[in-house]
Amino acid sequence: MSRILLKLSGEALAGDKHHGFDEATVIEVAKQVKQIVDNGTQVGIVIGGGNFWRGRTSETIDRTKADQIGMLATVMNCIYVSEIFRYVGMKTAVLTPFECGNMTKLFSKDRANKYFAHDMVVFFAGGTGHPYFSTDTATVLRAIEIEADGIYLAKAIDGVYDSDPKTNPAAKKYDELSIEEVVEKKLAVVDLTASIMCLENKMPMYVFGLNEENSIVNALTGKFNGTKVTV
Ligand code: UDP
Repeated sequence: MSRILLKLSGEALAGDKHHGFDEATVIEVAKQVKQIVDNGTQVGIVIGGGNFWRGRTSETIDRTKADQIGMLATVMNCIYVSEIFRYVGMKTAVLTPFECGNMTKLFSKDRANKYFAHDMVVFFAGGTGHPYFSTDTATVLRAIEIEADGIYLAKAIDGVYDSDPKTNPAAKKYDELSIEEVVEKKLAVVDLTASIMCLENKMPMYVFGLNEENSIVNALTGKFNGTKVTV
């Protein structure tokens, strides 16, 4: 049985609106994840919060409080996407590193494993539960804890480039590169804290563009044309 961790950015949920939710986009993601789950892969999900809020959004309020708002944004995102997943016929659970009353369940590895054993998609909401971290860090942390085979990063861009293709038309896409190179060249795959955790714990990453048709299914069924980050 393979087990993966899929990271979706908050912006990915907003479609062309760039804020909030775009239901058609999320239903499309849900249908693709259902195919993967139906084929026997266990799927954990982490979602960013950028469609609502980022800790650095405000220069007025305290960073810790701003980050708390960011973490709560990821909880809203996971509850929303979890419901859309149920709408298309999957079983889901939302886990958080802090109590959210009866809205989510508290994260533990045992609890996640129990849900995976019941063929549920498990959402890891609320980031790490700590300010000054990111959902990148939460993605790698949860992937390591649940012993995932790899992290699938669905991005607005279709892989890792040697420079920004928006500003440099000659930018070159990597088919494969090592996590050491990502760290040395400061390539923006995940943030530095998350990269170091991947390096130390030998967690591979697969970076691909969410906007391409059937991209999640393709990434998992041998038609991967993004960037593989090896360990
Ligand atoms: N956040 C946090 N701790 C975590 C995860 C997220 O404080 O463990 C906050 C942080 O403010 C971040 C926001 O939640 O900016 C949304 O997360 P995301 O990783 O999407 O932020 P981004 O990388 O887009 O700034």
